[in-house]
Amino acid sequence: MAKKHGRKYGDLSPALPERGGSLPGERKNFIKNDNGFVCAQCDKTVQPLGSSSRDHCPFCLYSLHVDIVPGDRASGCGGLLVPLAAETDARRGYMIIYRCKKCGAIKRNKSAHDAKIQPDNIDLIIELTTRRGEINI
Ligand SMILES: [Zn+2]
Ligand SMILES: [Zn+2]
Repeated sequence: MAKKHGRKYGDLSPALPERGGSLPGERKNFIKNDNGFVCAQCDKTVQPLGSSSRDHCPFCLYSLHVDIVPGDRASGCGGLLVPLAAETDARRGYMIIYRCKKCGAIKRNKSAHDAKIQPDNIDLIIELTTRRGEINI
């Protein structure tokens, strides 16, 4: 029954108030959740996930600190999120734990190892789960 803290970083959505109330039809291309991108760490081209937000690279698992709430792209940090470890969540499956290289924030992203297109590197994720005990978060 080792409950790791009470904090769930991914669970704050979606009840936040609208920031600035973006108009429907307003262009917000790179804010949109599920665009493809080029990984800042390994330079590979990452395709959109299709179903939910692609928030990290499936090849090296790195991410960028761009969200406060997952998918909102509201963080001004933009630092590289370095995968430290992974853990399994009964409801959500594998969660990857990150630390931002720039500001030190700890973030968790849900793994997309079951994605149809470019699924996460499951070997890397499993390797990361073995490091879960080494970090004190
Ligand atoms: Zn990458
Ligand atoms: Zn940051």
